Amino acid sequence: MSISLILSGLFPLTCLGCGREGVTLCSECLARIPREAAGDCPRCDAVSPYGDLCTSCQRQSSLDHLLYGTLYHPVIREALHRLKYEGATALAKPLATILAARLRVFLETHSLDDEIAIVPVPLFWWREKERGFNQALVLARALGERVHLPVVSELLKKERATTTQTKLTRKERLANLADVFSVRSGMTVPATVILLDDIFTTAATLTAAARTLRHAGVKTIIGLTVAKG
Ligand SMILES: [Zn+2]
Ligand SMILES: [Zn+2]
Repeated sequence: MSISLILSGLFPLTCLGCGREGVTLCSECLARIPREAAGDCPRCDAVSPYGDLCTSCQRQSSLDHLLYGTLYHPVIREALHRLKYEGATALAKPLATILAARLRVFLETHSLDDEIAIVPVPLFWWREKERGFNQALVLARALGERVHLPVVSELLKKERATTTQTKLTRKERLANLADVFSVRSGMTVPATVILLDDIFTTAATLTAAARTLRHAGVKTIIGLTVAKG
């Protein structure tokens, strides 16, 4: 499906879960998607309360917390694919429902600084130009509206394009991502950042972005994605 077809309205608006007309993903289908496994560390699968990073992973990572909304359910896989590669940005709204639910549970159990901002993981500029948008930014805006938090899209910058991480070892991933992010000079750095992306697998990208934010003075960094791949 090309972006022009979607934009011209020739792409019928139907729920990708049940086919119902007029919505991208209906509330019933959304409610049926299993949410995160509440008791496991998302990085090493050790037992961890609230499904957050375990203390050992917290020590090793630049991320203080790592949260994801759902498991990699087929409906979520399709939704993220359509959002990212087919320009179906309207899906950001139902996906933000999942992000907001996960974030609310977290905020209810942690006392954080008042100064919280959502920062989307950036794309390299020509990748964003080629795609027409950054899916993480589209999701960040939808989440920001839902939970009434500001989105600071310009804070982080991606310095170069990175090759796909999927076939690389952990060591190669880290080398691939060394110094790939920077903080734009002259920007006010918030005390707490919700670092937002669509999905994570090993969290190498989120960790690299968190390291940059930490060096810039961010106190608390919470990685948040729709799903864990
Ligand atoms: Zn449906
Ligand atoms: Zn762990």
